[in-house]
Amino acid sequence: MGRTSKDKGEVYYHLAKEKGWRARSAFKLLQLDEEFQLFQGVTWAVDLCAAPGSWSQVLSQKIGGQKPGQVVAVDLQAMAPLPGVLQIQGDITQLSTAKEIIQYFEGCPADLVVCDRAPDVTGLHDVDEYMQAQLLLPALNIATYVLKPGGCFVAKIFRGRDVTLLYSQLRVFLSSVLCAKPKSSWNSSIEALTVCQGYDPPEGFVPDLTKPLLEHSYDSDFKQLDGPIHIIVPFVTCGDLSTYDSDRKDGSEYKYTPPTQPPISPPYQEACKMKKKGQLAKELHPQECPISRVDMLPQ
Ligand code: SAM
Repeated sequence: MGRTSKDKGEVYYHLAKEKGWRARSAFKLLQLDEEFQLFQGVTWAVDLCAAPGSWSQVLSQKIGGQKPGQVVAVDLQAMAPLPGVLQIQGDITQLSTAKEIIQYFEGCPADLVVCDRAPDVTGLHDVDEYMQAQLLLPALNIATYVLKPGGCFVAKIFRGRDVTLLYSQLRVFLSSVLCAKPKSSWNSSIEALTVCQGYDPPEGFVPDLTKPLLEHSYDSDFKQLDGPIHIIVPFVTCGDLSTYDSDRKDGSEYKYTPPTQPPISPPYQEACKMKKKGQLAKELHPQECPISRVDMLPQ
């Protein structure tokens, strides 16, 4: 927990240590629950990309999973055991791991699948966002096997320029998709969580791990991904807003940290404004051009 100095001076980092959570991320899931009552009626849950295990801790405590198997946690890395949590060490993009997860849920589909997977960030937001989306789709692919109808899928996303495409892909399988920013997630980060409720795959959909999720062909005349596919979803901040600010460091004065990815301000924005006011010079036709290309050639 807390490998960077940014983590170490931070309020939720200390709070997690104090309360015994394995990572500060626990607060993100708890704050989502405050807003969406994620754990209500949940008896079976899957935690994808679970290590070091703070989300699994929350799940096992909140859904009373004292019986192993009620919470299944999967990660590439080994994780210290947790009461009530059945662990699988493996890669969620591999068929064998996915099959292992699915086999635990045969006959008792999961009410909730969560995935906190993130790529190693490069700092190039478009690349990071793309990578994150590519990590999320295998998680959703597994979820299509284990989620019961009406079930809920929660996953980390990066709110970049093209995130609306991801929302529309999620909306194919879940009736309600929204973007949530818990108070414990750094303001300055493009990270957010998508809370997708009401698992409802398209008619004729048959889960198939052997191909990418969106390459399935459906028997129905399902055409949601044709045409304009960028959708806007509700944005919800969650967690008590009067509580700790995750950008605040201990004992120091609050200092506003600007977002690393401010609203897009394209380099041509000024030109657009000038064009609206008729201040932009008009393009000249070659005949109107006072200097011909030939004049410009070296003599
Ligand atoms: N939610 C966790 C918690 O609260 O403790 C933290 C998860 S951490 C941010 C992301 C995890 O994703 C890492 O432990 C990493 O090993 C795991 N991960 C990344 N790619 C994976 C993959 N292909 N399959 C399984 N786990 C993966």
